[in-house]
Amino acid sequence: MTHKRKQLYPTKVVDNVLIANDVHYISLEKSFDFYPGQVIALALNKDDEPRLYSIASGNNEAHLSILFDIKPDGELTPPLARAKKGDEVYISQAFGKFLCQHTPAYWIATGTGIAPFLSILESKDTKNIKLLHGARTLDKFFFQNTFEEKLGANYLRFCTTETNDKVIAGRLTNYLQETEALPTDYKYYLCGSSQMVIDVREILINKGIPFDNIIAEIYF
Ligand SMILES: Cc1cc2nc3c(=O)[nH]c(=O)nc-3n(C[C@H](O)[C@H](O)[C@H](O)COP(=O)(O)OP(=O)(O)OC[C@H]3O[C@@H](n4cnc5c(N)ncnc54)[C@H](O)[C@@H]3O)c2cc1C
Repeated sequence: MTHKRKQLYPTKVVDNVLIANDVHYISLEKSFDFYPGQVIALALNKDDEPRLYSIASGNNEAHLSILFDIKPDGELTPPLARAKKGDEVYISQAFGKFLCQHTPAYWIATGTGIAPFLSILESKDTKNIKLLHGARTLDKFFFQNTFEEKLGANYLRFCTTETNDKVIAGRLTNYLQETEALPTDYKYYLCGSSQMVIDVREILINKGIPFDNIIAEIYF
């Protein structure tokens, strides 16, 4: 993607945990504040083209963490997955406007797109939220215990290839399509793949949700 190149600063890896198949939660030394929902640019070397990542940790936590999928042919994520405590990486200051400050709201995520919502919930008390999280397999509902604890029945998991008694089988788009009356005065915050955002946005618009109430962060 093209974006204005951000100044990058060296920081150290504090921890790097494989939390699901091909998904890592990596924590870095934190030297700046951020608003939950923001992203950072990250590179392994100062002159590399950085990639963007949503901050997944709360803004009161000692470290700054992100959640990432390994793209097997990707330039950054395979070596980043091998990074060890004490290794140096380069990050920008936090930026971005996906702050999800308005309620009542639906928060809608697929895969690692859950990260900004995790950061927001870890940072402050948030009420009147309904969180829909879609994933292909059961191991990809990252930090589900945290969401269960904070949101209870307002945390809905949609799994497309596996089932258990905690998830709804199928896509979250089916659920939205089948929900008779989606409130038109709620905000709808979408985060994840471009395909999910395109599909969800179309459903919401068709159901009469005003365009201005749909706010998306697209991972491409
Ligand atoms: C605002 C924003 C926030 C994001 N937040 C997150 C996040 O929190 N977590 C997360 O996991 N990701 C996030 N992303 C995605 C992330 O920035 C990277 O795109 C992703 O991690 C892949 O990086 P990579 O260097 O490993 O792969 P890349 O080298 O960028 O490659 C990506 C894919 O494209 C393919 N590819 C590369 N070059 C070519 C080519 N020339 N032709 C065809 N295919 C090619 C690769 O095989 C690979 O599958 C975010 C993106 C944006 C825009």
